[in-house]
Amino acid sequence: MRFTIKDGILIPRNTLEDSLPIAKIPTIPQPQLNPNFAYNRELQQLLTGKQLLLDDIPFTLDEIQTHYQNGYVTYRQPIVYKGKQPICARCGNKEPQWFATFPCSRCEETCLYCRHCLMMGRISACTPLLGWNGPVPDTIYPTKILEWQGTLSEGQTVASNQVVEAIHGNQEHLIWAVCGAGKTEVLFAGIETALTAKKRICIATPRTDVVLELTPRLKAAFPNITVASLYGGSEDRHLFAPLTIATTHQLLRFYQAFDIIILDEVDAFPYTVEESLQHAANQARKTTSAMIYLTATPNQKWQSECRSGKRAYTTIPARFHRHPLPVPEFVWCGNWQKLLQKNKLPQNVIDWIQKRIRANKQALLFFPHIPLMEKALTILRRIAPNIEAVHAEDPDRKNKVQKMRAKEIPLLLTTTILERGVTFPNIDVAVIGAEDTIFTESALVQIAGRAGRSKDYPDGVVTFFHYGKTDQMIKARRQIVSMNREGVRRGLLDL
Ligand SMILES: [Zn+2]
Ligand SMILES: [Zn+2]
Repeated sequence: MRFTIKDGILIPRNTLEDSLPIAKIPTIPQPQLNPNFAYNRELQQLLTGKQLLLDDIPFTLDEIQTHYQNGYVTYRQPIVYKGKQPICARCGNKEPQWFATFPCSRCEETCLYCRHCLMMGRISACTPLLGWNGPVPDTIYPTKILEWQGTLSEGQTVASNQVVEAIHGNQEHLIWAVCGAGKTEVLFAGIETALTAKKRICIATPRTDVVLELTPRLKAAFPNITVASLYGGSEDRHLFAPLTIATTHQLLRFYQAFDIIILDEVDAFPYTVEESLQHAANQARKTTSAMIYLTATPNQKWQSECRSGKRAYTTIPARFHRHPLPVPEFVWCGNWQKLLQKNKLPQNVIDWIQKRIRANKQALLFFPHIPLMEKALTILRRIAPNIEAVHAEDPDRKNKVQKMRAKEIPLLLTTTILERGVTFPNIDVAVIGAEDTIFTESALVQIAGRAGRSKDYPDGVVTFFHYGKTDQMIKARRQIVSMNREGVRRGLLDL
């Protein structure tokens, strides 16, 4: 579509003369809010705090335009220019190789679009980003907001108080909680505080699995609050709610929406991806707002910011069950890849596995790459035919994890796909080829964090088999040891 400016307002035009794609209009005027205009309540619900394309919503351009002319809808440029350099206003992409052009029937020009956020619908130079400028929808808040009856550990209590304080003061705060510390409960008091103050809050996490797992827990804790659960293809996408749980990708549809954003597992992606998620989170939060980060494994940059006092943070160094984290042991296993090519596994790896199978102790075995894992599977099935292997693209992944939980599998081989999020009560954990670059400090801490999670089985053996120790392995072990030490120092562990 094309626009022209007439009497200080933007008007859609069908003709090529005197009109431009919106990205080429230098400044977009915003008409004054007309208090007598009868705005559409459904559109209000759907656009408040959002940045959507016309294709995202079931309204005609006519209706949108009328709301714009009465000051209720905003048009924003989809692509802005810094000199000649295009920047996607939705996802923040500024890499030239992530832009492309196509012959566009809407503006009848060769139209520039962003490939980086294409999965959220194509944003091109002629498609305005729609937002809401009118009153916010009314929300009814119950008198009793939090119905959760559980108790917090000492470590959780300290963190929970910090979250409340950060929300009150609109600050940023990092909660660095070891795997199994119970980080969700730490948020409850903060969420209650926010909702009591009629603030809007969003918990964002990289993985859909986590959104699906958190939704019922939050609905149970806050039964009288509307909770929107957002992921690709979810039914709540047009639901306006005081409490939103979303994948980080879904944040790209929000604009200055939230008073508090809680960003979970900030470390789960490489830095470049993290950067665009940070952009999404920054766009989705209001100018005055709080930001809470949750992680078990902050990256090096964040760790040093914590140590140097540049970043406000609180650690929960101990698990809920007050037992220390299992510390990984390093075991040299020679050139295991070369052996696998000859259809063999290192003897100490075989011994480790046989010991577990004899003792009936389940184990997770991590591999850096799928083909090598498949080779190992063939070999290990000679020891126990019901051993299984999973990886990200495995269509049977959920079923195999389920079988592992039901103790139908003695040993599950896996890529880093199971490094986080899964809990088996009583397992040992080994990494084969811990020297591989895929096993970063954060991945190794997460992997080690799979062991000893249940209060009935708080111990577990964690072994990193390697062909040469790496810096990342040493840092991972150091992080675990230092958390245990802090747990002892703060009296959070029973020894
Ligand atoms: Zn984009
Ligand atoms: Zn176009």
